[in-house]
Amino acid sequence: YKVKEKGKNHFMIYRCSMSMEPMIELESSLRKGLERDEFILYYQPQISLLTNEIVGVEALVRWERPGFGLVPPSEFIPLAEEMGLIVPIGERVLLEACKQSVSWREKGLPVFRIAVNISSLQFQQNDFIETVSRIIKETRANPNDIELEITESMAMGPIEKNLAKLSYLKKMGFLIAMDDFGTGYSSLHYLSQFPIDRLKIDRSFISSLGKSEKDAAIVKLIVMMAKGLNFQVLAEGVEEELQKEFLMDIGCDEFQGYLYSPPISADDCEKLMLANAVP
Ligand code: C2E
Ligand code: CA
Ligand code: CA
Ligand code: CA
Repeated sequence: YKVKEKGKNHFMIYRCSMSMEPMIELESSLRKGLERDEFILYYQPQISLLTNEIVGVEALVRWERPGFGLVPPSEFIPLAEEMGLIVPIGERVLLEACKQSVSWREKGLPVFRIAVNISSLQFQQNDFIETVSRIIKETRANPNDIELEITESMAMGPIEKNLAKLSYLKKMGFLIAMDDFGTGYSSLHYLSQFPIDRLKIDRSFISSLGKSEKDAAIVKLIVMMAKGLNFQVLAEGVEEELQKEFLMDIGCDEFQGYLYSPPISADDCEKLMLANAVP
């Protein structure tokens, strides 16, 4: 955000990117966007480094804002978090992902594991479990096909309560992934207690592979640690063949990144899944 001086002692806060639009307008159109169901999901394939096949996708929200085209999450998620709107938006996202997973199963597609980002505000809601259960019941999705992506900030809240919630979700059959691993506050202490299926190594470590030997050492260490803790491990933001090869060499299980595909529409994703072979 930018604070712009508007005469003496008058300040207005503008967003940097959305053509210097006043915040208040953005807020109200975000609310309307929710009412009018303007949020859609893009999907980014996740590739097995063992078989070179798509094994899952991550759902990433986009805002189809009239007059603005497809707005990326960086332009509205932070505000949605601040306004608390991330809770209903996140609910819509989970509902849509569950529907998509069921539809891909019904069509007989080879992939139906969908990862969904869960904001920590959303997770902290007292009725989070209820909401999730209702969506599962309503869509008849299989929780085994849905991966909930949480972040290390989970270790900063009421830890006992969060752990109990996670264990309950795990018992319901959901997969749990720790997103952006390595960027948050150190939660190594809690890591072994979290019922995690997959660790996602943050893009920042991957992008410096080949440039920083130290980051390479960290990535190697995270993969080793994940193995020791019996987690699957996925590298985010893989853009170059050399990065992929390094990850393969050190025994990383999966990757996600522009090297294979950016996030794409559900239709385009289906086409990729049907081809399902990576060159
Ligand atoms: P994230 O969860 O870390 O998602 C990965 C982001 O990295 C995506 O950005 C994706 O497009 C981008 N990415 C993937 N591969 C590459 C690559 O090879 N190179 C580079 N430079 N970038 C890559 P996107 O879609 O713009 O989403 C940004 C963030 O917004 C996400 O980061 C996530 O924190 C948040 N977000 C997206 N959808 C949702 C949602 O439904 N709910 C919540 N709470 N947050 C969401
Ligand atoms: Ca994510
Ligand atoms: Ca991430
Ligand atoms: Ca991130």
